[in-house]
Amino acid sequence: MPLNILIVEDEPAIQELIAVNLEGAGHHALRAADAEQALAIMRQTLPDLVLLDWMLPGQSGLAIARHLRGNARTRGTPIIMLTAKSAEQDKILGLEAGADDYITKPFSPRELLARIKAVLRRRAPQLTDDVVEVKGLRLDPAAHRVSGNGQTLDLGPTEFRLLHFFMTHAERVHSRAQLLDQVWGDHVYVEERTVDVHIRRLRQALEASGHDALIETVRGTGYRFAVAA
Ligand code: CA
Repeated sequence: MPLNILIVEDEPAIQELIAVNLEGAGHHALRAADAEQALAIMRQTLPDLVLLDWMLPGQSGLAIARHLRGNARTRGTPIIMLTAKSAEQDKILGLEAGADDYITKPFSPRELLARIKAVLRRRAPQLTDDVVEVKGLRLDPAAHRVSGNGQTLDLGPTEFRLLHFFMTHAERVHSRAQLLDQVWGDHVYVEERTVDVHIRRLRQALEASGHDALIETVRGTGYRFAVAA
């Protein structure tokens, strides 16, 4: 799945090397050389993941990580710190500031891509191509296919993303606003009622195999993909 990845790195050669490798892996690289540029980009486009250099002119990567974690819009965005520092104490500081992982320079492109994948599995599994299977319901992101007990189910693109998000975030209750943010995307202005329309369509699509019952309405709150029962 192509991702928008923001690289915050002031050394042009390293920034370029990372961007080339990300693009080679099919992702889209956004680039910033300092905090100001990074925040300006993030106001326009909320990236799927941020690669954040520690030593930057002006605000440090650590300060940026704290800032992103303190802001409702960017709180959930995965962050990987890039740094020449390898001391245990620095690593702890980075993780305390809200970074999800930490890569010490120099690193190989292969290690970088592996770390990105590992962080996404943990923080945003709906952005990976991993097949998810719950109670006979199987969703294959790479093939864009859903089946229930072996029977192919026909879902529209929005219903597909909605189901992918539910399956990777089971049991939790999601409000309509949260679903809009997570499934429709940032800076998309649609009414919350739209969520109900697509939930209805998703349930209809899942009826064929009886998996529609997994999507519960939580009165006054939102929806839950319930698999524990
Ligand atoms: Ca630097």
